[in-house]
Order: sequence, then C-alpha cells, then structure tokens
Amino acid sequence: MKHYDYVIVGSGLFGATFAHFAHKNGKSCIVIDKRHHLGGNVYCEEIEGINVHKYGAHIFHTNNKEVWQFVNSLAEFNRYTNSPVANYKGELYNLPFNMNTFYRMWGVTTPVEARRKIEEQRREISLELGLSAGCPPRNLEEQALMLVGRDIYERLIKGYTEKQWGRKCTELPAQIIRRLPVCFVFDNNYFNDSYQGIPIGGYNRLISKLLWGADTITRMDFFNRTSPGPNIENWRNLADKLVFTGKIDQYFNYCYGNLEYRTVRFEHETLDVPNYQGNAVVNYTEREVPYTRIIEHKHFEMFGEAVYQLPKTVISREYSTEWTEGMEPFYPVNNERNNSLYLQYKALADNEPDVIFGGRLAEYKYYDMAPVVERVMDIWRNLL
Ligand code: UDP
Repeated sequence: MKHYDYVIVGSGLFGATFAHFAHKNGKSCIVIDKRHHLGGNVYCEEIEGINVHKYGAHIFHTNNKEVWQFVNSLAEFNRYTNSPVANYKGELYNLPFNMNTFYRMWGVTTPVEARRKIEEQRREISLELGLSAGCPPRNLEEQALMLVGRDIYERLIKGYTEKQWGRKCTELPAQIIRRLPVCFVFDNNYFNDSYQGIPIGGYNRLISKLLWGADTITRMDFFNRTSPGPNIENWRNLADKLVFTGKIDQYFNYCYGNLEYRTVRFEHETLDVPNYQGNAVVNYTEREVPYTRIIEHKHFEMFGEAVYQLPKTVISREYSTEWTEGMEPFYPVNNERNNSLYLQYKALADNEPDVIFGGRLAEYKYYDMAPVVERVMDIWRNLL
C-alpha cells in the first residue's frame, strides 16, 4: 500500500479540517471512519428535500473572522440565527435568558426591574446556601441559582440539565451552565458571536470540500482487530504520523479505567405538515417529558414563508442516555473524577510524539465547531 504522511482516524470536523490543511501544505493523507459515511456528527441526510442533521443540531458560530472566512471560502453559509424556545409544562419561554424570558416569567418590562428580581432571589439563595460574596459556586445548581435565581432555575434549567446529563445538578460542574448567556436586552439570539450560520445545502458540502485531495475509507474501524482489514499497527505503519480523533481512553485500551460520556438517541420522524413547531429548536425543560428537545430541521435553511414551499417536515426528538459500548459517544462528562482520569490519559498522549489527539473525544472536552477549526489552524501554524 501507498505510504502517507498522515493517517487520520475519524472524518468529523477535526479530522476533515486537518486533512484539508495537510493537502494544502503538500502532505498526503488517508482518512478512515467506522461509519458508513464521512463527516462524523455534522453529517446530514436529505429527507423530503430537507437536510436532516442526523446527529443533532449543528450551528456554526464564532467571533473569529479568520475561521468564518475560511469556512465560507469552502461553502456558502446562510443567515440562520439560533433562538430556541423552552417549553415548560406547555408554557413557552424564549432562550437564552433575556428580557423576553424575564417578561414571560415575572411580567417585568425593564432591565432595572428584571435585575432587581434576580438580585432579590440571589440574596435569599446566598443566605440559604451560606455563600459569601466572592466565594465561587461549587456546582451547577449553585451557579445557575446565582446567575438567574430560583424561578428560572426550577422551570428552565433543573429538569433539562438532569435529563441531559443523567446526574443531579449538585453533582455537575458549574462551567456547563456558563455556556448559557444571560442578557438584559430583548434579543433571542442564543450565541453572542459576530458570525453565525449553516452551510446552504447542509454540512456534507463543507466536509467534502475539506476532504478534497485526501484518500478516504468508510466502514473501517481503527480498533477492529477481527476484521480482514489492517490492524492498529498496520495503520500506524502506513504513515509517518497518526491523527486520532476517537475516544482517548479507548486508544490506550482503557488502561486507567473508563471515561464517561453521554450519548443521544434520535427519534427522527417525517410529518405530513409543512410547519410543526415554528422553530428549529424547542427544548422541553420539565423532567416528566422524556426527551430534551425537538429539532425541526427545515427551519435551519428555510426562513419565514419559505417553510411552506415543502409540504412535509422532519423532526427529531433527542433522548439523552449514558454511553455504553457500541453506542456513539457525544458529550464528555467533565466532572472532577473524569477530568482527573483524562489528565492521566493526556500524560500518556503527551509521550506519543507521532500522534496528534484532537476533537471532542480525544481531548475530552465540550467543543463547539469553530474552536475545533481554530485548533486545527493553530496546530498547522506550529507544524509549519
Ligand atoms: N440548558 C438548560 N436549559 C435549556 C438549555 C440548556 O438548562 O433549555 C443547560 C443544560 O445544562 C445544557 C447546557 O445548558 O447542558 C448547555 O446547553 P446547550 O444547548 O448550549 O448545549 P448543546 O447540547 O447544544 O451542546
């Protein structure tokens, strides 16, 4: 077989972007993926003329102009702006937490009133929890209570978070909730970034542009020792360097034990109506509804009246569960136990000069898409 500069394990955004820069810099690479398609979790499947985000909603957003220009040089992005709605027992609230949410929750109409309301609840809670000023919240529950008060925490955060992570909010790290912006303006834009959008025609176009010039093989499991294909050692001998984007604990044969991940089961359904929920993302924030959210995919690419141009719609209900062998890992569970276990694996990874570990699973972190692209750009800056 041909000898390559890089063998890339995983064709998701990290692997595909790496392959792009390798090719651009005159390096050869082969990308292998165990799934039947390329693109990892950004893969879209066309159903009824709609690009369905098969592994959950992917919305590209960034403040980094270089990253935005780079992805736009490969695929044209639309103007999609994420503004999810939360459904709590049939009541609808705008997200992220902003003046529309506060108005719906308390009837307050000015930022001063909204701040006063949150401040009141904060004061009560810090007394109850014995939190003194400047003392950092010890877990997600304390962080959320201090950020938005008890009413919002109980209606819009607690149930959703416990379904999403399968753990009590008191057992989760505070930083998860810091991803959610709180602002005192009437603005339902979820991402406080200068650039936001979705590739017109879906993510597969972006992935195929990124992978242009690389050899690719699908249905090829790097770890499968029983298949007739090459085993791990053969893959490693096929190139000077390996880029690994899978689970870091699996790479090291779970020698220190298992890292925990959450997975999502998707229930995709095609409906005979043109517009089911009027928005791409509706979160179900009460504990009793078993799914966390419903995505209606056509709203990612069709705006306003245009949604009625197609007679049908496709929705996906998301059920979050603990990862076990054979499932797709989605989210690292970055609590104390897992973070310190990860550091042990990271020390082993640092001793492998010919392997680059990258992406959500190999770096064991809650990565958005733009920082992944940014990370690959940085790696290439250093390599050159
Ligand atoms: N979250 C919440 N209520 C919501 C949406 C999010 O409490 O309606 C919390 C939840 O803990 C979640 C975190 O905010 O894990 C981050 O949510 P986001 O939607 O940014 O994460 P994604 O799953 O899209 O990566």
